[in-house]
Amino acid sequence: MYPDRVVSGMRPTGAMHLGHYHGALKNWIRMQSEQHCLFFVADWHALTTHYDDPGIVERSTWDMVVDWLAAGIDPSQATIFIQSRVPEHAELHLLLSMATPLGWLERVPTYRDQIENLATKDLATYGFLGYPLLQAADVLIYRASEVPVGEDQLPHVEMMREIARRFNHIYGKEKGFEEKALEAVRKLGSKRAKLYLELRTDYQQDGKDEALEQARAMLEDAGSLSNIDRERLFGYLEGSRKLILVEPQAILTESSRLPGLDGRKMSKSYGNAIGLREDRASVVKKIRTMPTDPARVRRTDAGDPKRCPVWQLHEVYSDQPTRDWVVKGCTSAGIGCIECKQPVIDGVLAEQEPMQERAQQYLDDPSLVRAIVADGCDKARRLAQETMRDVREAMGISYT
Ligand code: SF4
Repeated sequence: MYPDRVVSGMRPTGAMHLGHYHGALKNWIRMQSEQHCLFFVADWHALTTHYDDPGIVERSTWDMVVDWLAAGIDPSQATIFIQSRVPEHAELHLLLSMATPLGWLERVPTYRDQIENLATKDLATYGFLGYPLLQAADVLIYRASEVPVGEDQLPHVEMMREIARRFNHIYGKEKGFEEKALEAVRKLGSKRAKLYLELRTDYQQDGKDEALEQARAMLEDAGSLSNIDRERLFGYLEGSRKLILVEPQAILTESSRLPGLDGRKMSKSYGNAIGLREDRASVVKKIRTMPTDPARVRRTDAGDPKRCPVWQLHEVYSDQPTRDWVVKGCTSAGIGCIECKQPVIDGVLAEQEPMQERAQQYLDDPSLVRAIVADGCDKARRLAQETMRDVREAMGISYT
Protein backbone atom coordinates (compact mmCIF):
# COMPACT_ATOMS: atom_id res chain seq x y z
CA MET A 1 0.00 0.00 0.00
CA TYR A 2 0.99 3.64 -0.04
CA PRO A 3 3.18 5.16 2.70
CA ASP A 4 1.50 7.26 5.39
CA ARG A 5 1.36 10.87 4.39
CA VAL A 6 -0.25 13.93 5.90
CA VAL A 7 -1.34 16.86 3.72
CA SER A 8 -2.40 20.25 4.98
CA GLY A 9 -2.51 23.76 3.57
CA MET A 10 -3.18 27.36 4.56
CA ARG A 11 -4.60 30.20 2.52
CA PRO A 12 -2.28 33.19 2.12
CA THR A 13 -4.75 36.00 2.70
CA GLY A 14 -2.89 38.12 5.26
CA ALA A 15 -0.27 38.11 7.99
CA MET A 16 -0.24 35.16 10.36
CA HIS A 17 -0.94 35.72 14.04
CA LEU A 18 -0.50 33.81 17.26
CA GLY A 19 -4.00 32.35 16.89
CA HIS A 20 -2.74 30.49 13.79
CA TYR A 21 0.28 29.30 15.74
CA HIS A 22 -1.78 27.84 18.58
CA GLY A 23 -4.60 26.67 16.32
CA ALA A 24 -2.70 24.87 13.55
CA LEU A 25 1.05 25.37 13.41
CA LYS A 26 1.77 23.72 16.75
CA ASN A 27 0.01 20.62 15.44
CA TRP A 28 2.01 20.70 12.24
CA ILE A 29 5.25 20.98 14.20
CA ARG A 30 4.29 17.97 16.30
CA MET A 31 3.27 15.90 13.25
CA GLN A 32 6.30 16.66 11.09
CA SER A 33 8.56 14.41 13.16
CA GLU A 34 6.03 11.56 13.21
CA GLN A 35 4.99 11.23 9.55
CA HIS A 36 5.83 12.49 6.11
CA CYS A 37 4.04 15.84 6.04
CA LEU A 38 3.34 17.97 2.99
CA PHE A 39 2.46 21.54 3.90
CA PHE A 40 1.38 23.87 1.14
CA VAL A 41 0.52 27.51 0.62
CA ALA A 42 -2.97 27.29 -0.84
CA ASP A 43 -2.72 30.24 -3.21
CA TRP A 44 -5.39 28.97 -5.61
CA HIS A 45 -7.75 28.56 -2.67
CA ALA A 46 -7.04 32.13 -1.61
CA LEU A 47 -8.02 33.29 -5.09
CA THR A 48 -11.44 31.66 -4.83
CA THR A 49 -12.42 34.39 -2.36
CA HIS A 50 -9.79 37.05 -3.18
CA TYR A 51 -9.94 36.85 -6.97
CA ASP A 52 -10.42 40.61 -7.11
CA ASP A 53 -7.45 41.34 -4.82
CA PRO A 54 -4.66 39.01 -5.94
CA GLY A 55 -1.92 41.33 -4.60
CA ILE A 56 -2.58 40.17 -1.07
CA VAL A 57 -2.10 36.56 -2.13
CA GLU A 58 1.28 37.25 -3.66
CA ARG A 59 2.47 39.32 -0.70
CA SER A 60 1.24 36.87 1.91
CA THR A 61 2.64 33.76 0.24
CA TRP A 62 6.30 34.43 1.00
CA ASP A 63 5.55 35.94 4.41
CA MET A 64 3.59 32.83 5.24
CA VAL A 65 6.47 30.52 4.44
CA VAL A 66 8.78 32.65 6.61
CA ASP A 67 6.19 32.46 9.40
CA TRP A 68 6.06 28.66 9.13
CA LEU A 69 9.84 28.40 9.25
CA ALA A 70 9.95 30.88 12.13
CA ALA A 71 7.38 28.88 14.06
CA GLY A 72 9.44 25.72 13.72
CA ILE A 73 8.40 23.92 10.55
CA ASP A 74 11.55 22.13 9.56
CA PRO A 75 12.16 21.75 5.82
CA SER A 76 14.44 18.79 6.44
CA GLN A 77 11.43 16.92 7.85
CA ALA A 78 8.41 18.36 6.05
CA THR A 79 7.84 19.19 2.39
CA ILE A 80 6.89 22.85 1.99
CA PHE A 81 5.48 23.98 -1.35
CA ILE A 82 3.16 26.36 -3.15
CA GLN A 83 0.01 24.82 -4.59
CA SER A 84 0.12 26.58 -7.96
CA ARG A 85 3.69 25.41 -8.53
CA VAL A 86 2.36 21.86 -8.73
CA PRO A 87 -0.06 22.20 -11.63
CA GLU A 88 -1.03 18.53 -11.34
CA HIS A 89 -3.42 19.67 -8.56
CA ALA A 90 -5.38 21.56 -11.22
CA GLU A 91 -5.34 18.62 -13.61
CA LEU A 92 -6.70 16.26 -10.99
CA HIS A 93 -9.28 18.85 -9.97
CA LEU A 94 -10.47 19.02 -13.57
CA LEU A 95 -10.59 15.25 -14.02
CA LEU A 96 -12.42 14.74 -10.72
CA SER A 97 -14.92 17.41 -11.72
CA MET A 98 -16.08 15.20 -14.60
CA ALA A 99 -17.68 12.68 -12.27
CA THR A 100 -18.51 14.77 -9.20
CA PRO A 101 -22.24 15.40 -8.81
CA LEU A 102 -23.05 19.08 -8.41
CA GLY A 103 -25.19 18.31 -5.37
CA TRP A 104 -22.15 17.07 -3.43
CA LEU A 105 -20.57 20.51 -3.73
CA GLU A 106 -23.72 22.47 -3.03
CA ARG A 107 -24.43 20.60 0.17
CA VAL A 108 -21.04 21.28 1.80
CA PRO A 109 -22.10 23.34 4.86
CA THR A 110 -19.16 25.77 4.71
CA TYR A 111 -20.16 26.71 1.15
CA ARG A 112 -23.47 28.13 2.28
CA ASP A 113 -21.99 29.63 5.47
CA GLN A 114 -19.27 31.45 3.58
CA ILE A 115 -21.68 32.83 1.00
CA GLU A 116 -23.73 34.27 3.88
CA ASN A 117 -20.73 35.51 5.92
CA LEU A 118 -19.02 37.16 2.99
CA ALA A 119 -22.18 38.77 1.68
CA THR A 120 -20.26 41.79 0.39
CA LYS A 121 -18.39 39.58 -2.08
CA ASP A 122 -19.81 37.96 -5.14
CA LEU A 123 -19.02 34.32 -4.46
CA ALA A 124 -21.50 32.89 -6.93
CA THR A 125 -18.51 31.75 -8.97
CA TYR A 126 -17.53 28.48 -10.52
CA GLY A 127 -14.21 28.54 -8.63
CA PHE A 128 -15.80 29.03 -5.23
CA LEU A 129 -18.30 26.24 -5.72
CA GLY A 130 -15.42 23.96 -6.71
CA TYR A 131 -13.34 24.86 -3.66
CA PRO A 132 -13.96 21.59 -1.80
CA LEU A 133 -13.21 19.62 -4.94
CA LEU A 134 -9.89 21.41 -5.31
CA GLN A 135 -9.24 20.53 -1.67
CA ALA A 136 -10.00 16.91 -2.49
CA ALA A 137 -7.52 17.01 -5.37
CA ASP A 138 -4.88 18.57 -3.06
CA VAL A 139 -5.11 15.60 -0.74
CA LEU A 140 -5.90 12.73 -3.10
CA ILE A 141 -3.02 13.59 -5.40
CA TYR A 142 -0.59 12.61 -2.61
CA ARG A 143 -2.57 9.52 -1.64
CA ALA A 144 -2.53 10.98 1.85
CA SER A 145 -3.59 8.72 4.65
CA GLU A 146 -4.45 11.58 7.00
CA VAL A 147 -5.74 15.12 6.88
CA PRO A 148 -5.57 17.20 10.06
CA VAL A 149 -8.73 19.29 10.30
CA GLY A 150 -10.89 21.26 12.66
CA GLU A 151 -14.46 20.13 13.23
CA ASP A 152 -15.91 22.53 10.64
CA GLN A 153 -13.83 20.87 7.92
CA LEU A 154 -15.04 17.31 8.61
CA PRO A 155 -17.68 17.39 5.83
CA HIS A 156 -14.92 18.31 3.37
CA VAL A 157 -12.90 15.22 4.27
CA GLU A 158 -16.02 13.09 4.07
CA MET A 159 -16.53 14.40 0.57
CA MET A 160 -12.90 13.66 -0.35
CA ARG A 161 -13.49 10.08 0.74
CA GLU A 162 -16.65 9.83 -1.33
CA ILE A 163 -14.85 11.26 -4.35
CA ALA A 164 -11.96 8.77 -4.02
CA ARG A 165 -14.42 5.92 -3.60
CA ARG A 166 -16.44 6.98 -6.61
CA PHE A 167 -13.30 7.39 -8.70
CA ASN A 168 -12.05 3.91 -7.77
CA HIS A 169 -15.50 2.55 -8.43
CA ILE A 170 -15.74 4.02 -11.92
CA TYR A 171 -12.12 3.74 -13.10
CA GLY A 172 -10.43 1.11 -10.95
CA LYS A 173 -11.77 -2.10 -12.41
CA GLU A 174 -9.31 -4.88 -13.24
CA LYS A 175 -9.52 -7.11 -16.26
CA GLY A 176 -11.90 -9.99 -15.70
CA PHE A 177 -12.53 -9.01 -12.10
CA GLU A 178 -16.04 -7.78 -12.58
CA GLU A 179 -17.19 -10.93 -14.43
CA LYS A 180 -15.82 -13.13 -11.69
CA ALA A 181 -17.39 -10.97 -9.02
CA LEU A 182 -20.78 -11.03 -10.75
CA GLU A 183 -20.58 -14.79 -11.08
CA ALA A 184 -20.00 -14.95 -7.33
CA VAL A 185 -22.95 -12.63 -6.74
CA ARG A 186 -25.21 -15.10 -8.56
CA LYS A 187 -24.08 -17.83 -6.17
CA LEU A 188 -25.63 -15.88 -3.31
CA GLY A 189 -29.13 -16.77 -4.55
CA SER A 190 -31.46 -14.24 -6.12
CA LYS A 191 -32.79 -12.60 -2.94
CA ARG A 192 -29.43 -12.10 -1.31
CA ALA A 193 -27.80 -11.17 -4.62
CA LYS A 194 -30.31 -8.37 -5.08
CA LEU A 195 -29.74 -7.12 -1.52
CA TYR A 196 -25.95 -7.29 -1.96
CA LEU A 197 -26.08 -5.18 -5.10
CA GLU A 198 -28.38 -2.64 -3.49
CA LEU A 199 -26.11 -2.29 -0.46
CA ARG A 200 -23.07 -1.97 -2.70
CA THR A 201 -24.71 0.88 -4.58
CA ASP A 202 -25.74 2.59 -1.33
CA TYR A 203 -22.16 2.43 -0.10
CA GLN A 204 -20.37 3.38 -3.28
CA GLN A 205 -22.65 6.08 -4.57
CA ASP A 206 -24.02 7.58 -1.38
CA GLY A 207 -21.19 6.70 1.02
CA LYS A 208 -23.44 4.88 3.50
CA ASP A 209 -21.06 3.09 5.89
CA GLU A 210 -23.90 1.13 7.48
CA ALA A 211 -24.64 -0.44 4.07
CA LEU A 212 -21.03 -1.63 3.89
CA GLU A 213 -21.29 -3.17 7.36
CA GLN A 214 -24.57 -4.89 6.54
CA ALA A 215 -23.24 -6.33 3.30
CA ARG A 216 -20.07 -7.60 4.97
CA ALA A 217 -22.12 -9.33 7.67
CA MET A 218 -24.27 -10.95 4.98
CA LEU A 219 -21.19 -12.28 3.17
CA GLU A 220 -19.78 -13.71 6.40
CA ASP A 221 -23.01 -15.71 6.81
CA ALA A 222 -23.30 -16.86 3.21
CA GLY A 223 -22.52 -20.59 3.44
CA SER A 224 -22.96 -21.05 -0.31
CA LEU A 225 -19.75 -19.11 -1.07
CA SER A 226 -16.25 -20.49 -1.36
CA ASN A 227 -13.56 -18.46 0.39
CA ILE A 228 -12.23 -17.09 -2.85
CA ASP A 229 -15.68 -15.93 -3.97
CA ARG A 230 -16.25 -14.36 -0.57
CA GLU A 231 -12.97 -12.46 -0.91
CA ARG A 232 -13.98 -11.34 -4.38
CA LEU A 233 -17.26 -10.02 -3.12
CA PHE A 234 -15.61 -8.15 -0.27
CA GLY A 235 -13.37 -6.48 -2.85
CA TYR A 236 -16.24 -5.82 -5.24
CA LEU A 237 -18.22 -4.25 -2.44
CA GLU A 238 -15.65 -1.52 -1.97
CA GLY A 239 -15.26 -0.87 -5.66
CA SER A 240 -12.46 -2.95 -7.08
CA ARG A 241 -9.16 -4.50 -6.18
CA LYS A 242 -7.37 -1.69 -7.86
CA LEU A 243 -7.10 1.29 -5.62
CA ILE A 244 -6.04 4.37 -7.57
CA LEU A 245 -6.98 7.04 -5.08
CA VAL A 246 -6.74 6.52 -1.34
CA GLU A 247 -9.51 7.51 1.04
CA PRO A 248 -7.90 9.75 3.68
CA GLN A 249 -8.83 9.74 7.35
CA ALA A 250 -9.73 13.00 9.05
CA ILE A 251 -7.58 13.62 12.10
CA LEU A 252 -9.47 15.93 14.38
CA THR A 253 -6.86 18.30 15.75
CA GLU A 254 -7.12 19.37 19.34
CA SER A 255 -6.27 22.96 18.69
CA SER A 256 -5.70 25.04 21.76
CA ARG A 257 -7.63 28.15 20.91
CA LEU A 258 -5.89 31.40 21.63
CA PRO A 259 -8.45 34.12 22.21
CA GLY A 260 -7.89 37.58 20.80
CA LEU A 261 -7.23 40.75 22.79
CA ASP A 262 -10.95 41.32 23.30
CA GLY A 263 -11.77 37.74 24.31
CA ARG A 264 -13.30 36.79 20.95
CA LYS A 265 -11.60 34.39 18.55
CA MET A 266 -8.29 35.87 17.40
CA SER A 267 -8.79 37.20 13.91
CA LYS A 268 -7.21 39.94 11.84
CA SER A 269 -10.63 41.13 10.75
CA TYR A 270 -11.69 41.71 14.39
CA GLY A 271 -8.57 43.83 14.98
CA ASN A 272 -7.77 41.76 18.09
CA ALA A 273 -4.73 39.82 16.88
CA ILE A 274 -1.07 39.71 17.82
CA GLY A 275 1.13 39.02 14.80
CA LEU A 276 3.34 35.97 14.88
CA ARG A 277 6.42 38.16 14.54
CA GLU A 278 4.99 41.46 15.73
CA ASP A 279 7.59 43.79 17.20
CA ARG A 280 8.11 43.94 20.91
CA ALA A 281 6.93 47.50 21.56
CA SER A 282 3.68 46.91 19.70
CA VAL A 283 2.97 43.66 21.61
CA VAL A 284 3.57 45.40 24.95
CA LYS A 285 1.29 48.28 23.98
CA LYS A 286 -1.48 45.99 22.74
CA ILE A 287 -1.56 43.89 25.90
CA ARG A 288 -1.24 46.90 28.23
CA THR A 289 -4.30 48.46 26.60
CA MET A 290 -6.37 45.29 26.50
CA PRO A 291 -9.83 45.53 28.02
CA THR A 292 -10.27 43.93 31.45
CA ASP A 293 -13.23 43.02 33.66
CA PRO A 294 -15.61 45.96 32.98
CA ALA A 295 -16.66 45.94 36.65
CA ARG A 296 -13.14 46.86 37.71
CA VAL A 297 -13.33 50.57 37.13
CA ARG A 298 -10.96 51.71 39.90
CA ARG A 299 -7.85 50.02 41.22
CA THR A 300 -9.67 49.46 44.53
CA ASP A 301 -12.59 47.59 42.89
CA ALA A 302 -12.38 43.81 43.13
CA GLY A 303 -12.63 41.98 39.80
CA ASP A 304 -13.58 38.59 38.44
CA PRO A 305 -11.03 36.89 36.14
CA LYS A 306 -13.83 34.93 34.46
CA ARG A 307 -15.12 38.18 32.96
CA CYS A 308 -11.68 39.30 31.83
CA PRO A 309 -9.97 38.56 28.47
CA VAL A 310 -6.57 38.89 30.16
CA TRP A 311 -7.40 35.84 32.24
CA GLN A 312 -7.96 33.80 29.09
CA LEU A 313 -4.42 34.62 28.06
CA HIS A 314 -3.15 33.66 31.52
CA GLU A 315 -4.76 30.28 30.91
CA VAL A 316 -2.51 29.83 27.89
CA TYR A 317 0.68 31.54 29.01
CA SER A 318 0.90 31.34 32.83
CA ASP A 319 1.80 28.53 35.19
CA GLN A 320 -0.39 27.51 38.10
CA PRO A 321 1.28 29.66 40.81
CA THR A 322 0.89 32.75 38.59
CA ARG A 323 -2.75 31.92 37.92
CA ASP A 324 -3.36 31.50 41.66
CA TRP A 325 -1.72 34.90 42.19
CA VAL A 326 -4.04 36.44 39.58
CA VAL A 327 -7.22 34.97 41.03
CA LYS A 328 -6.30 36.00 44.57
CA GLY A 329 -5.06 39.45 43.60
CA CYS A 330 -7.93 40.25 41.24
CA THR A 331 -10.79 39.15 43.49
CA SER A 332 -9.34 41.02 46.47
CA ALA A 333 -8.17 44.10 44.53
CA GLY A 334 -4.70 43.19 45.77
CA ILE A 335 -3.11 43.69 42.34
CA GLY A 336 -3.66 46.20 39.58
CA CYS A 337 -4.50 45.24 36.02
CA ILE A 338 -1.21 46.51 34.59
CA GLU A 339 0.65 44.36 37.12
CA CYS A 340 -1.58 41.41 36.22
CA LYS A 341 -0.84 41.77 32.54
CA GLN A 342 2.93 41.65 32.92
CA PRO A 343 3.25 37.81 33.06
CA VAL A 344 1.13 37.61 29.88
CA ILE A 345 3.40 40.12 28.16
CA ASP A 346 6.44 38.12 29.29
CA GLY A 347 4.86 34.87 28.08
CA VAL A 348 3.99 36.21 24.63
CA LEU A 349 7.42 37.78 24.17
CA ALA A 350 9.15 34.58 25.29
CA GLU A 351 7.11 32.62 22.76
CA GLN A 352 7.95 35.04 19.97
CA GLU A 353 11.65 35.41 20.69
CA PRO A 354 12.86 32.16 19.08
CA MET A 355 10.49 32.79 16.17
CA GLN A 356 12.00 36.23 15.58
CA GLU A 357 15.47 34.71 15.72
CA ARG A 358 14.66 31.92 13.28
CA ALA A 359 12.93 34.36 10.92
CA GLN A 360 15.90 36.72 10.83
CA GLN A 361 18.13 34.51 8.68
CA TYR A 362 15.36 34.19 6.09
CA LEU A 363 14.67 37.92 6.10
CA ASP A 364 18.39 38.60 5.69
CA ASP A 365 18.61 36.16 2.82
CA PRO A 366 15.28 35.56 1.04
CA SER A 367 17.01 33.22 -1.43
CA LEU A 368 17.02 30.61 1.36
CA VAL A 369 13.21 30.67 1.42
CA ARG A 370 13.05 30.48 -2.36
CA ALA A 371 15.38 27.45 -2.31
CA ILE A 372 13.35 25.65 0.38
CA VAL A 373 10.15 26.20 -1.59
CA ALA A 374 11.74 25.18 -4.91
CA ASP A 375 12.98 21.97 -3.33
CA GLY A 376 9.57 21.29 -1.75
CA CYS A 377 7.79 21.94 -5.06
CA ASP A 378 10.09 19.45 -6.82
CA LYS A 379 9.45 16.77 -4.22
CA ALA A 380 5.71 17.34 -4.18
CA ARG A 381 5.56 17.39 -7.96
CA ARG A 382 7.29 14.03 -8.28
CA LEU A 383 4.70 12.44 -5.99
CA ALA A 384 1.85 14.18 -7.77
CA GLN A 385 3.11 13.01 -11.16
CA GLU A 386 3.15 9.38 -9.99
CA THR A 387 -0.52 9.60 -9.05
CA MET A 388 -1.44 11.42 -12.24
CA ARG A 389 0.19 8.70 -14.34
CA ASP A 390 -2.12 6.15 -12.73
CA VAL A 391 -5.13 8.45 -12.93
CA ARG A 392 -4.64 9.15 -16.63
CA GLU A 393 -4.10 5.49 -17.36
CA ALA A 394 -7.23 4.50 -15.46
CA MET A 395 -9.26 7.12 -17.31
CA GLY A 396 -7.89 6.01 -20.66
CA ILE A 397 -6.08 9.24 -21.49
CA SER A 398 -2.43 8.26 -21.12
CA TYR A 399 -1.98 7.69 -24.89
CA THR A 400 1.20 5.65 -24.58
S1 SF4 B 1 -6.56 41.96 37.71
FE1 SF4 B 1 -6.12 40.76 35.92
S2 SF4 B 1 -7.80 39.32 35.75
FE2 SF4 B 1 -8.45 40.93 37.14
S3 SF4 B 1 -9.55 42.39 35.84
FE3 SF4 B 1 -7.42 43.07 35.98
S4 SF4 B 1 -6.41 42.18 34.24
FE4 SF4 B 1 -8.32 41.09 34.52
